[in-house]
Amino acid sequence: MANVKQKFLFKNKDVSTVKSSDGTSRSLEKAGRPNRQKEKINGLKDRAQDFRKSVIESLEEDIRDFLINEAELHTYDDLTKVNPVTPSTVLKCLQARYSAKVFYTHAGCTLVALNPFQPIPHLYSLDVMKEYHSAPQPQEFKPHIFIVAEEAYRNVQGQVEPMNQSLVVSGESGAGKTWTSRCLMKYYATVAASSQKCQDTVEKIERRVLGSNPLMEAFGNACTLRNSNSSRFGKYIQLQLNGSQLLVGASVQTYLLEKTRVAFQAPNERNFHIFYQMMKGATEKQRLEWMLPLDQDFAWLPHAEKTLEEDCLQETVEAMINLGIDESKRTQIFTILAGLLQLGNVDFNPASEEAQTCDLDEHSKGFLQKTADLLHVQLDELESCLTVRTLRAGKQNILKPCSQSECGVRRDCLAKAIYARLFDWLVTFINNSMCADRSIWCNFIGLLDVYGFECFLLNNLEQLCINYANEKLQQHFVAHYLKAQQEEYVTEGLQWSFIRYQDNQGCLDLIEGSPSSIFSLLNEECRLNRASDAMQFCVRLQKELSDNDSISWDKFSKQPHFTVAHYAGKVSYQIEGMMEKNKDPVPPELISLLQDSQDSLLHSLFADGDRENEGLRGHSKVVTVISKFRNSLESLMKILHSTTPHYTRCIKPNPDCRPLTFKREEVIAQLEACGIVETINISAAGFPIRIPYGSFLQRYGLITNTRLTAQINQMNSPEMSNQAVLGSAVEDVLNVVLKRRATHSTLSPDDNNNMLHCGRTKVFLTHSLLEMLEEHRNRLRSQKAFCIQCCWRRHQTNQHNLKRQAATRLQAGLRSWLIRREIGKWHKAASVIQTRWRRWRVWMDALAEAELDDAEDFMENEASCVLPKLDPLLKERCSVQLSSIQEPVMVRGWPIGLVMASAPSVTVSLTATGFQQIKSMMACLKIPFRNGEYKVKTNQFDQGVASIRAQPRGSIKMHLQRSPLLYADMHPVHKTDVVTGFNQILLEDRT
Ligand code: ADP
Ligand code: MG
Repeated sequence: MANVKQKFLFKNKDVSTVKSSDGTSRSLEKAGRPNRQKEKINGLKDRAQDFRKSVIESLEEDIRDFLINEAELHTYDDLTKVNPVTPSTVLKCLQARYSAKVFYTHAGCTLVALNPFQPIPHLYSLDVMKEYHSAPQPQEFKPHIFIVAEEAYRNVQGQVEPMNQSLVVSGESGAGKTWTSRCLMKYYATVAASSQKCQDTVEKIERRVLGSNPLMEAFGNACTLRNSNSSRFGKYIQLQLNGSQLLVGASVQTYLLEKTRVAFQAPNERNFHIFYQMMKGATEKQRLEWMLPLDQDFAWLPHAEKTLEEDCLQETVEAMINLGIDESKRTQIFTILAGLLQLGNVDFNPASEEAQTCDLDEHSKGFLQKTADLLHVQLDELESCLTVRTLRAGKQNILKPCSQSECGVRRDCLAKAIYARLFDWLVTFINNSMCADRSIWCNFIGLLDVYGFECFLLNNLEQLCINYANEKLQQHFVAHYLKAQQEEYVTEGLQWSFIRYQDNQGCLDLIEGSPSSIFSLLNEECRLNRASDAMQFCVRLQKELSDNDSISWDKFSKQPHFTVAHYAGKVSYQIEGMMEKNKDPVPPELISLLQDSQDSLLHSLFADGDRENEGLRGHSKVVTVISKFRNSLESLMKILHSTTPHYTRCIKPNPDCRPLTFKREEVIAQLEACGIVETINISAAGFPIRIPYGSFLQRYGLITNTRLTAQINQMNSPEMSNQAVLGSAVEDVLNVVLKRRATHSTLSPDDNNNMLHCGRTKVFLTHSLLEMLEEHRNRLRSQKAFCIQCCWRRHQTNQHNLKRQAATRLQAGLRSWLIRREIGKWHKAASVIQTRWRRWRVWMDALAEAELDDAEDFMENEASCVLPKLDPLLKERCSVQLSSIQEPVMVRGWPIGLVMASAPSVTVSLTATGFQQIKSMMACLKIPFRNGEYKVKTNQFDQGVASIRAQPRGSIKMHLQRSPLLYADMHPVHKTDVVTGFNQILLEDRT
């Protein structure tokens, strides 16, 4: 079994791990063993100090080395890969990524989200959602909130216990928690609605789920110094999925609305958005109804001149419509809210006498009248409720006028009570509208968006509750993460020294423990039903809790206070007013006043009476704010424990919400507050990669070419169940990779052991070994791909050659067949021509013979008789012009050779090309070649006229006929108007 290097994490974050020669490590604190000999102790101490110094120096060197490589810093997708993990390296890496506009980074099991403070539309588009949803391994994509969303979604699908998932989004105010939650809701609304099945219902639910956001933000968010849209309540939304993974409903649970904001706004802060929306978005008619003239100032509406993008009444009204809040209900809601604004302008004057009630000036009377009208209560009753207290003395009621400040408190109390109940009513309405029947949904994904750790100049009960919630979440995170990791190591048989981590149990004991804790003492104080004294309570705290290291007191401060050392930093809480806030009493007169309201909504809000105050009156157990908050948090923690959590840490890169501005001090404080560096250390110390043997062999089996891979793929092999067989195959694969590594580096076998461990069913790896495996796998795959390419190319070349050869053969065969056929035709044609030619020759010879026999007769007749008129046809066919004869003569039957021989001077004009042609023509005309007797002029190079001249031999009779082969003497030019050949013969007498 591998000997796993022990790693420790200490609160002081010093490098405190030393590796001994036997390969194990021990803490420096333990390194100096007690010794009786003082010198020896001193020597050991010195050596330990030297060693510590050298370790710190080498660490600083490592940090410098790491930071030098600045160009690559932004490429670290996971902060556990940063080496060494120190606040400065982590910070530098995050800064580099932020500058490169990369806003998400993994930190082991957590996702760190840096707020860009500017819209990055392409980062959250529908296409990106689909890409992450359809990817086989979304983890291989760039870090993104959609990876977390998809992982949770697939876990539900995977049906592995626990199936329900929780996405915990934390961070300080303005870090981007609500934005991230909205993104997650949009993702699920898209992904779970992508099915065709019951599209209508899903769309409706989707609209309602998304619509609940603007409505709850309008009523629960406000502009604070840290965030212009700060959520003043915590929420846990359950997205309910049916068996087919479709979104069928949702429910929302809210925590600790900051209702004091209705009646009190810190300097430069605003009231809840809804009041500004009404003031700015109301129509004229609504203004009249709500009694909100444009020029009216309201005490509870500071900074009304500042307009934010959240001040959009229309969006809230649309969300209300989507959720099914009808018009009459909407009117009732807005009327009540308008009544609260009027109430804020009511001021009380001090009473003239103690027994008298406080006076109202004319101005305030007007506002009180309007309040009474808008809340549909009696004016006098309202006034008396605000100014007179009813005390119970036995069965009698005693009326006691209130002081000026008491009147103010009662006024604020009325407004807070109404607003809080209205908010609760809205949440219930939203739940009724979105929540699916329990029989329909089977799993859920929960989104937790709670306010982050808070530390103001003055902190009171609200901050104590908020910071307590954050402590609880931090504890859950550390416990869950370490428990899960370390339990797995034990079940897999790893020799593992348990990691020490910054445990906040002490702080939680201080706040909520028993028997004595801040909460228990506060509750006790409230139950005593006496006027609370802050100083007295402070002394009590000091007495009861001074043993706890997490609480302290500033001796120089005069204000009663206590300071709690939270995991994220020290916070000082003022005690003044804390008990009152914890009791949060609503005078019974106010409750009964509202119960008598003519407004049905307001009436119903208080119809069930004041449960808490019922308790107060009966002196039984008081339900304090702390108790309520603690109970709701307990139930939330129960839900979180029963689900698989996924953590997202939102970081605010600068306090001024400026786009793309990274303030190192701001970020490092937040990293420390949420324990990110420790988380990374825990991840880096252990084996972040855990792969079951089967999956490992499926991916990396090709490295050893094991036949098990094929069997695993079939999934029905009996050997599949044999983990030992699989384990040895896995070891073979790892040996191959490590051997190769050993040839490239000089690391010891111990280093190998620190990189991996084979458990009972899983192999545990570090990131670096996983990278090596991946690299080896990729190299093998590219070698194999190359081999396949070569074979394929060879095969393709062979195929190509074969095809070419076949084509050539086909072409040759076809060509020879075509030529043979053509030649056959030529042969036929030639023999036809030959036959015809021979016949013509014979016929011509015969004709010539016959003509010669009659030649003399013609000559005698010619001299004696008058020449007959030429037949026009003959004239046209055979035009012969003898220069001595005026009229054309009739030429008949004489071979041209004879004509030529007997003509006194004959010029035969021929159109021919080439000497050969003329010769052959002469041959065919049977003109004897006699040098000197006639001249042959040829136009060898040009087409045109050639002339043959011969000596005259007496009188001429000429008979000329065309060749029996029609146009045989013609030049093969496709011009019909050009007729070449001896179609004109001029006979000229030169004597
Ligand atoms: P929180 O809920 O943590 O108090 P918000 O979610 O309201 O903070 O974020 C504060 C502001 O930061 C938002 O109004 C928005 O303008 C901006 N913001 C937060 N996250 C992003 C983001 N991923 N992209 C762009 N702007 C963001
Ligand atoms: Mg928020």
